[in-house]
Amino acid sequence: MRAAYFRGNEVIELTDVPTPKPGEGEVLIRVAANGVCGSDRKILRSGFQLIPGHEVAGTVVEAGPGCKVQVGARVAAYIPIHCGECPFCKKGQGNLCPNMKGLLGWSTNGGYAEYMVLPDRNALVMDDRISFDEGVLLLDTVGTAGHAIRLSRCWERESALIIGAGPIGIGALLGMKAFGVPVVYVSEISAYRRQKVEELGGIPIDPTQESLEQRIRADFPYGVDIVFEAVGSPATIWQSFDLVTHGGTINLVGEYWGKLELEHPKAQWMLNDITAIRSFYFTIPEFYENQQMILGGKLNAKALATHSFPLEGVRAAYDQFVAGDTLKVMVKP
Ligand SMILES: [Zn+2]
Ligand SMILES: [Zn+2]
Repeated sequence: MRAAYFRGNEVIELTDVPTPKPGEGEVLIRVAANGVCGSDRKILRSGFQLIPGHEVAGTVVEAGPGCKVQVGARVAAYIPIHCGECPFCKKGQGNLCPNMKGLLGWSTNGGYAEYMVLPDRNALVMDDRISFDEGVLLLDTVGTAGHAIRLSRCWERESALIIGAGPIGIGALLGMKAFGVPVVYVSEISAYRRQKVEELGGIPIDPTQESLEQRIRADFPYGVDIVFEAVGSPATIWQSFDLVTHGGTINLVGEYWGKLELEHPKAQWMLNDITAIRSFYFTIPEFYENQQMILGGKLNAKALATHSFPLEGVRAAYDQFVAGDTLKVMVKP
């Protein structure tokens, strides 16, 4: 089969490798779509031993012994390699499994290839009316964002600010609108993405042209009920604490693995009953709830799939993604 490898220094190599065989409890899928993700950029620079790609949907073409999923099923790949036995897994919270053996596409070969093997229990069966693009969007984009906004009980809130309108920030906008949050500001530097924000019912703000703080405080003097931080930088993390209202909630969804240092907290942060939530991925029942929201016309996930490239065009897909005038870029091997 054809597969793409990231060799480091932004070099992507397409090569032929043997098609893998599913073992016991594993299925082989023909990859239909793999979403380009911001988190891949690090390994594009550093290089990666395995086939990358962790936002994958496809069709089961072979099933090893002991699988429940049938050959021919259209599935989305749930990435936490969870045990299926622990109290968390029994509730569908594979994202919280303490026995997790890594993540598909990070600790196993991923979806930048024609075929991919995954555990049977990680193959989430899609409804026939859900497209492969939507299947991919139900993972990191709508899934991760949807989990965070559920934890912040967004349906009880009046106002929100999303910092960063990348795929997950936009996913949060879609989700909050579906849950009926009346006012959702979105701070984003790309004009293309601000246009999308407007189309999807958010209020775009260009933080390079006006003070985010002044803009929010003009309408909400005490701050907004929810701040959804989807950038992952110290500046925007601390800004979240500044702009959340008394008793409000911050979703820290952006990936920031660097040093987070503060001389001392501001007095207002010490007094205002701020809840900060860090969440990871989503639960399996939420996948099916989100799928129902798409089928019910509440969640227009399709609008987020803006570009598509064949596997041979994976380089062009990245260049397009990095250039910024995109939401979700799909590679279709
Ligand atoms: Zn991703
Ligand atoms: Zn478990």
